[in-house]
Amino acid sequence: MTADSWPPLREELRGVEPYGAPQLDVPVQLNVNENPYPPSPAVVEDIAAAVAQAAASLNRYPDREFTELRKGLVAYLAQESGVELSPDQVWAANGSNEVMLQILQAFGGPGRTAISFAPTYSMYPEYARDAMTTYVAGRRHDDFGFDLDEAAQLIEQHRPHVVLLPSPNNPTGTALPHDVIGQLCEMTQGVVVIDEAYAEFRRAGVPSALELLSRHRNLVVTRTMSKAFALAGARLGYLAAAPEICDALRVVRLPYHLSAVTQATASAALRHADELLAKVEELRAERDRTVAWLRGQGFEVAESDANFVLFGRLDDRQALWQGLLDRGVLIRVTGPEGWLRVSVGTAEEMAAFKDALMEVGKR
Ligand SMILES: *Cc1c(COP(=O)(O)O)cnc(C)c1O
Repeated sequence: MTADSWPPLREELRGVEPYGAPQLDVPVQLNVNENPYPPSPAVVEDIAAAVAQAAASLNRYPDREFTELRKGLVAYLAQESGVELSPDQVWAANGSNEVMLQILQAFGGPGRTAISFAPTYSMYPEYARDAMTTYVAGRRHDDFGFDLDEAAQLIEQHRPHVVLLPSPNNPTGTALPHDVIGQLCEMTQGVVVIDEAYAEFRRAGVPSALELLSRHRNLVVTRTMSKAFALAGARLGYLAAAPEICDALRVVRLPYHLSAVTQATASAALRHADELLAKVEELRAERDRTVAWLRGQGFEVAESDANFVLFGRLDDRQALWQGLLDRGVLIRVTGPEGWLRVSVGTAEEMAAFKDALMEVGKR
């Protein structure tokens, strides 16, 4: 082995920078779509009590099938979207990032292909790479709408085993209509993963893909407690799908992948769903106000069903991003050239964002 091949990394990983938005310590952090409201003292107390109880038996491995948590997730989904599922139709892991990797480990792999449609979540090609799956990206329309004809062509050409589609899409905020999801499921034998990380923020009248599960056995709907549930630090993501799909994921998961502490935390938080989700209502209103304000300032703004807003078109987005950062406001350089994404924070944080943006001026 020569000195320049140290460490003996896979060829395709050489020189690759690890994924991650800058974690900078600035007063107004609007860059990773977190929920700006921390859990209330009552929620914190309940989580702490649940974790203390779990701690008393940490000498034992946790429940591999996370039975209680599954029941909690089923009850929550019934409440949130009106869709009744059974516990063998849900699966959970450490963040929906891990859920997604497991999907690719089970249904992707060498010689297989996953497709998505750009601009979209920048982690998809990374999951595919890590699961040694070929990744192919189609395009969305200029207004970020989904092009079903292009999708049909791409599916015909590549015969993907996995289709990855966020709804609402990150970083554009665009939700997919039911008929598009249904037709996609009919077009392919592969699994169609609708990533609903931001589903709770959708506008009134926008449906969840959960409603289509009973009609399409290849449909997988992923969700997370990181955004609407204000639980990004706990790392809990999950999916709803046919029992056969959940069973397949049990083959690739690491033994006892969900710690007893994680299970206890998530189950406790689910008992406070009503309170945690009350804040979602406020964030949706703040999102709509942000969209209207940015348009009023002459920016082009993508329609958003999520807790973030993509705005443009900027000649020098890097300069605008830096100008905001210099004023203590951190947003995200993502999406197509000429656009920036701002997460929806508290009213005070959004006021700080608007003030800073006025000061820096359109670039
Ligand atoms: C934030 C996000 C996730 C969720 O990540 P977690 O691992 O659950 O924190 C998944 N998909 C998209 C598109 C996201 O933006």
